[in-house]
Amino acid sequence: MPDRTRTQAEVVLDALAGRPDGAAVRALRGVRAAVVGGFVRDTLIGRVPREIDLVVEGDTAEIAAALGGTLTSYESFLAARVSGDGWSIDITQARRERYPRPGALPIVEPARLEQDLARRDFTVNAIAVTLERGELIAAEGALEDLAAHGLRVLHDESFIDDPTRVMRLARYAHRLGFTVDPHTAALAAAADLGTVTGSRIGAELRLALLEPDPLAPLADLTEKLPITVDRALVQAALALAPPDASRTLLILAAVTRERAPATWIESLELLARERDVVLQAKRAPELAAAIEAAKSPSELGAILRGVPVEVIAIAGALGSAAATRRWLTELRHIALEIDGDDLLAAGIVAGPELGARLERTLARKLDGQIDDGRQAELESALGERP
Ligand code: ATP
Repeated sequence: MPDRTRTQAEVVLDALAGRPDGAAVRALRGVRAAVVGGFVRDTLIGRVPREIDLVVEGDTAEIAAALGGTLTSYESFLAARVSGDGWSIDITQARRERYPRPGALPIVEPARLEQDLARRDFTVNAIAVTLERGELIAAEGALEDLAAHGLRVLHDESFIDDPTRVMRLARYAHRLGFTVDPHTAALAAAADLGTVTGSRIGAELRLALLEPDPLAPLADLTEKLPITVDRALVQAALALAPPDASRTLLILAAVTRERAPATWIESLELLARERDVVLQAKRAPELAAAIEAAKSPSELGAILRGVPVEVIAIAGALGSAAATRRWLTELRHIALEIDGDDLLAAGIVAGPELGARLERTLARKLDGQIDDGRQAELESALGERP
């Protein structure tokens, strides 16, 4: 628990000073800047904050220069990120926001710190401590909500302006263990994520997947997004997943597999590999049936070679875990010691036959039909025409 003999502002400023990146912030004396959002919220409830967000009335460039480090500016958003050795701090210019239509990105204009707090998502995130004077400024009811561990929007249009806030709400509720105020819950229930671009939903999904227990917020969103959360299935798939699998991608693929239309998945603007895995996961039940029907390791290889490991783990969780585990831990690593050059040198002409000979030899090796070593492989590959 924070020390009650110090003011809340002092607790926040002391926490800031104690961080490696806090040293940079201390150089900001004389600049009208405040620390805001997650840093203040987490410090005041005794959690370790993840990152520092600063808000400044005036130019972000001045602050960035005082911090040193490398500056990346996002001018249309009046925002910048400054990073140095092992630290990075987000700085935003205090702003007012206007939403041209529900779900659209806001039009922003410079404003006072108090107005900046009013445009935030939840009251517990609308608390700031100024660096200059150590003054605590909070949206109405914010300190009470924080003390009560409650999540409440600042106004009734909040989820209409920006429906992605329902995804943020789910994340905070589970990560912090906070209770959602009933009126806020009713407003969230009416929110329509359909007004938001897929890329913004994709970005929020990514954040949800990085939470300590991603399935908890995702389970709250099954009526808003085309996802299904089957915790037992995901756990079984994660247990099968090899170290080279991406756990977050596996979860995304597992929750979108049944209900998400391909067009929706495309709209999320995922990376190419992510999109590929998520789309391929739709075939998991088919793969599960094929794994179960496979009568030999080589048949398993014919089904699974080239399929992403995340998709294989999901298929295994739906069907035969034992065969899938054997493929993932052992069989998929079996490769030939010889290659096409060896066959060319032995007089096989380049072309499909050469490939077929290598394939047949690998199948025999998987099924334990040839001895170990190059010689046995070569004899097998050079045997009768495949
Ligand atoms: P954490 O980093 O612990 O998830 P955070 O509160 O710092 O929490 P960020 O995503 O870094 O979260 O956002 C910083 C602050 O910006 C938030 O505390 C909130 O006040 C504000 N904010 C972020 N996204 C929105 C949004 N969509 N609508 C309104 N305010 C937002």
